[in-house]
Amino acid sequence: MGFSDLLSKYDTLDMAAYLAAVTAADVERVLAKHSLTPLDYLTLLSPAAEGMLEAIAQKANAITLRHFGKTIQLFTPLYLANYCTNQCVYCGFNTENRIKRSQLSADELRTEAEAIAATGLKHILILTGDAPAKSTVEYIGDCSKILSEFFTSISIEVYAMTQEEYEYLEKCGVDGLTIYQETYNKSLYLELHPKGPKRDYDFRLDAPERGCQAGMRTVNVGALLGLESVWQRDAFYTGLHAEYLQRKYPATNIAISPPRMRPHVGAYEPASIVTDRNLVQLVLAQRIFLHNVGITISTRESAELRDNMMPLGVTKMSAGVTTAVGGHTSDDESTAQFDISDPRSVDEMCRAIESKGFQPVFKDWQPF
Ligand code: SF4
Repeated sequence: MGFSDLLSKYDTLDMAAYLAAVTAADVERVLAKHSLTPLDYLTLLSPAAEGMLEAIAQKANAITLRHFGKTIQLFTPLYLANYCTNQCVYCGFNTENRIKRSQLSADELRTEAEAIAATGLKHILILTGDAPAKSTVEYIGDCSKILSEFFTSISIEVYAMTQEEYEYLEKCGVDGLTIYQETYNKSLYLELHPKGPKRDYDFRLDAPERGCQAGMRTVNVGALLGLESVWQRDAFYTGLHAEYLQRKYPATNIAISPPRMRPHVGAYEPASIVTDRNLVQLVLAQRIFLHNVGITISTRESAELRDNMMPLGVTKMSAGVTTAVGGHTSDDESTAQFDISDPRSVDEMCRAIESKGFQPVFKDWQPF
């Protein structure tokens, strides 16, 4: 059974009615359990649970300490290119947007890598837009080989690929895959992706599984919060997706990111506002549902919120971030994908993590 079969089991679930019917007693009953069913997880996403965050946070904190200690792993994104053939209505790289487009050469990449490596970081996330003819699999592979000289972990956040392409990149030094479904609501997905290769909902939905089958060490899933009018819907399905992968591929480290929409070039407005409190509730619920998954909070969120979320289930954070191509060595932000909220450097993030009694981790693995 694939993940789409699992998803279809919930086609008849009236999620709004389920969430509205949850009581404080239901939430207490779920908090008393060791392992949760999917509907228990949904219970923790309810409005009733939002009023009980203190009790939920205590449990999430205890689970996080047991599985991860007091650590926050650090990484930074590196944009290789911003060419894109898609028209995702919520993204600044949308092919219709008149922004400057560029792609790093091998020499420019080396310069970026040297600047990032000088901060001490060992984990990197490389990104491109979705333009397979421009940012080819071979180009991404060649970039990964260069980056392997500087970093011990290289993750990709690029277009959906076949298993064979992921296997090729794994041989080039890539060990992690991040790919967001954006929304699990198929009809909404088709509305938001009117043209381009990303419009293939099913190919994207199965990409994380192909990454697991290709031997990726980490696979990170997520949805872009704010696209769905009921934010709990995508939060619920993201949790199910992570649980499905973790159960089926126990040798792979599964992780979740809960990105919220940020200001960008273009006029698209979110369908729902996911408040700070909602985001905290979501991370707590994910931690209690999935004890072992990594949870990443990016610089889409403010410094204050990220600091406050450290003890609540988060395991990974970005630092020294730019969303522009070549942005680690240039002040030119004209190629940026979106505005960030937390501009702190790697040093500043380390001090913030330590001041919360946590340990910043630069490296947790060494490739053979
Ligand atoms: S979200 Fe990705 S695929 Fe869509 S427009 Fe932006 S860069 Fe392109």
